[in-house]
Amino acid sequence: MNVDFEQAAEEFIQKIMKEHYLNGSGLKDTLEILPIYEVYGWIFERPTVTKALKRQDEEGRYVATFAADGYLDASVKELTEKVTNATTQATVEWQGEEIPYRRASVVIANEPDAGKRRDLESRVQARTEEMNPDRLERMQKLHGQAKDLGFGSYLQMYDQLKELHLDWLLGRMRELLDRTEDIFDAELDHHLDAIGMQKEDATPADTAYLFRAPQFDSLFPAEKLVESLKKTLSGMGIDLDSQKNVRLDTDSRPLKSPRAFCAPVVVPDEIYLVIAPRGGQDDYKAILHEAGHAEHFGHVLPDLPFAFKRLGDDAVSESFAFLMDNLLKNHRWFAEVMDTHGIDDYLRLTRFHKLWMTRRYAAKLNYEKLLHTASDIGAARNDYAQILRRILKINISDVNFLSDVDDGLYAAGYIRAWIFEVMLRKHLEDYFGALWFLNRGAGELLVEMWKDGQKYPVDVLAHRLHYERLDAEPLIQELAR
Ligand SMILES: [Zn+2]
Repeated sequence: MNVDFEQAAEEFIQKIMKEHYLNGSGLKDTLEILPIYEVYGWIFERPTVTKALKRQDEEGRYVATFAADGYLDASVKELTEKVTNATTQATVEWQGEEIPYRRASVVIANEPDAGKRRDLESRVQARTEEMNPDRLERMQKLHGQAKDLGFGSYLQMYDQLKELHLDWLLGRMRELLDRTEDIFDAELDHHLDAIGMQKEDATPADTAYLFRAPQFDSLFPAEKLVESLKKTLSGMGIDLDSQKNVRLDTDSRPLKSPRAFCAPVVVPDEIYLVIAPRGGQDDYKAILHEAGHAEHFGHVLPDLPFAFKRLGDDAVSESFAFLMDNLLKNHRWFAEVMDTHGIDDYLRLTRFHKLWMTRRYAAKLNYEKLLHTASDIGAARNDYAQILRRILKINISDVNFLSDVDDGLYAAGYIRAWIFEVMLRKHLEDYFGALWFLNRGAGELLVEMWKDGQKYPVDVLAHRLHYERLDAEPLIQELAR
């Protein structure tokens, strides 16, 4: 592997990120990715990838994962584009109007009438079904390419390259599922009852409505969004206004993405935090989460090798993002930063949401193990519905058996991040107290960790915080209490 490759790879990511920033912030109405592939496509060609896969050192492993991942992506880019365009262009007929397929989930979550929610849900599912043949072909190709690179399966390729320790992770998730079973049952009944439903006939449309929870919107006003972020960061000694490299984009533009996002274009010199403030708990959660990513990338040492600045363990940056958005489960944060009290009902719902998400991802990981080793992908369809129904206890259709799967076993990255985030948060509480988020020492500790980019996987970071190893016990205890 030579400097040219790494330089080209870094430029490639910067150009792709810049396109996503320009498009997502509404500064440009198209996303032009293919011309970038034309210039940099050679970095994902077979000889380059084969050479990368021979590297054994940590830095080399990250580069190899990037190259192999890019090789798989490149082989399905036409199908990816076809599926993406289909989801962007599809519409669903709803109450005499054609609404965008992608917007339907928002309409479902805001629909108080259960019958109407279900009706729209089934119309969406009919569209999803039409896209399944292309998704199936795409997944088959990805599986084939992983084997072609010499791995036993797609699952084994990512498990090995990303060092996910899947067997260990699945074992810990089995224990999490067992120990949270009773509380999950009780809380699900409680929350469904509040919207007049029972789990025997509830579907994901109903839980989407449940978690939308408009009754709490007044706790999260749009005009306090940016101020609360700045106040949170300044509590840790970080002055967002004086950070030249972390650029807050709050301008209003017609085509701007409604959801906050972070675009690390040049790490650490050009990081965008893009927001279109509209208020509500989702908006607050998104801004805190994305600010976690932005501060992490914005503090990376500029002279680190590219592999440590941009590649590495996905769970690292996600942990910092979760640490920030978890402040919304902390009544002390509400009291100190928002000057809001008496929010027990909100906290109960948001903590249940975390339990729901953790169990959902545990279910997804169990399913993906079957999917990514199956000789007949179509046959895994049944497993999807069975596993998710058993773990989430509501009626889940099998139609999303491919659309509910992220590439490269990203689900495992989220689970590893949830595990490490609790360990990191406990560490901050032990050293800096319950109000750690108002403590400059806590901020300094985080900045020290951020400097390393994603050089160390969360397993090593746990060790550096004086834990013996990455341990799911704190997460399980928090969710089971
Ligand atoms: Zn994230």
